[in-house]
Amino acid sequence: MLRSTNPATGEIIADHPALTTPGLEAKVAKAAATWAQWRSSPVETRTALLSAIADQFDAHAERLAAMATAEMGKTLVAARAEVAKCAAAFRYYAQEGPALLAPRPIEGTKATVHYRPLGPILAVMPWNFPYWQVVRFMAPTILAGNVGLLKHASLVQGCGQLLEEMAISAGAPDGLFQNLAIKSDAVAGLIADPRIAAVTLTGSEGAGRSVATAAGAALKKVVLELGGSDPFIVMPSADLDAAVAAAVTGRVQNNGQSCVCAKRMIVHADIYDAFADRFTAAMLAVTLGDPTDPANVMGPLSSIEQRDTLMAQLAEARAAGATLVGGELVGGKGAYVTAGVITDLPRDSALAREELFGPVAMLFRAADLDDAIAIANDIPFGLGSSVWTTDPADQARFIADLEAGMIAVNQVLASTPQAPFGGIKTSGHGRELGEWGLREFMNVKAVMG
Ligand code: NAP
Repeated sequence: MLRSTNPATGEIIADHPALTTPGLEAKVAKAAATWAQWRSSPVETRTALLSAIADQFDAHAERLAAMATAEMGKTLVAARAEVAKCAAAFRYYAQEGPALLAPRPIEGTKATVHYRPLGPILAVMPWNFPYWQVVRFMAPTILAGNVGLLKHASLVQGCGQLLEEMAISAGAPDGLFQNLAIKSDAVAGLIADPRIAAVTLTGSEGAGRSVATAAGAALKKVVLELGGSDPFIVMPSADLDAAVAAAVTGRVQNNGQSCVCAKRMIVHADIYDAFADRFTAAMLAVTLGDPTDPANVMGPLSSIEQRDTLMAQLAEARAAGATLVGGELVGGKGAYVTAGVITDLPRDSALAREELFGPVAMLFRAADLDDAIAIANDIPFGLGSSVWTTDPADQARFIADLEAGMIAVNQVLASTPQAPFGGIKTSGHGRELGEWGLREFMNVKAVMG
């Protein structure tokens, strides 16, 4: 049984029965049978389906958004924006599909590259963007001629069902995209199944290690989009007001639970005090409450467990000698924590290298640009980063030397359907979105002569 609980109220939304072993077998068999047909479908059929799914997202936007808010607590405003972004991604792949899948001659040779599908792809997905994370895999999967099997996070089974419903109501063949109501202990067996061609996981480092181990044992391709503790570096040349506002947005977006939230603010010593004062005041002013009320910038964390994990990390920060302002647990049945700021956390403490998955920022003072880069890179993760400087030489250094899969210059890091998204080091490997995401699960076939 997979339980959906509203983290704003503690109310149980639904208990979803888990698939039985024969039920799961039937779905995998259906996926394999559907792939045998879909793999040779015309590109126009695939792009027409992607456009139709985008239309379904638009038509059902309110229902989709309400389910995400109810199951994981993001504000309704944010949930609506997520649904709109999903529709845009389906349209991007619909529009670019024919060009992306066309065979490419290799200049100066008689060789051509053809792009062929791989088969049924298993996706293990998190709750934090319950539609967008899935669509980043679902749209290119359909375009590639693959078929998708979704193991969504237990918390957001309602969202998983709606995703399948969107595909079916858009006219997808039976078995092209199926939601599997299963727990994580069923994942390794699926990866080992010869009918599953490859696996993609977005989630925590621990889940990534389990999935990568199973994929390694089966010699299957795996894409991993894991955690991060992104640096947000502010240099003296930056527009301080803009940087402070962006730092707050970057930290508290999605109730502080985005893999690419700005989690570590690394500020040049010359402007550290000014930044710290303004940033702390702005964080303490962030409104928190009912996620359906547009007056609130933040809703609850996704669950009581997530809240307790964050509170334990905040206690660890205090024990390590840091100062915490804000970051307070709000009483009642909801999983609410106020926005907060940690200062004076020893750079060599274990917590300085961990991800805080909630609306609390860590603030570090950097002596100079080299020191800022050293602090930023002194962490196992390498997902996103954001730098605030108008100096072109500084910008070039950051672009060259930050150990991250993505860097935003004078803006908050955000994904777009066109650009590659992903990390290095323990933030994972492989890329989603754009042509890079599409190619991850295709046979890039060399044709000679
Ligand atoms: P999580 O606990 O790792 O769960 C993610 C998914 O993996 C869920 O479907 C979960 O199923 C499943 N899972 C957990 N343990 C597993 C295992 N041992 N074997 C197979 N599957 C397993 O992560 P989360 O708490 O939902 O999400 C937060 C994490 O995701 C953060 O670290 C965040 O930074 C990261 N994230 C990364 C990206 C990115 O693009 N890089 C994007 C978003 C989030 P159950 O729900 O049933 O446990």
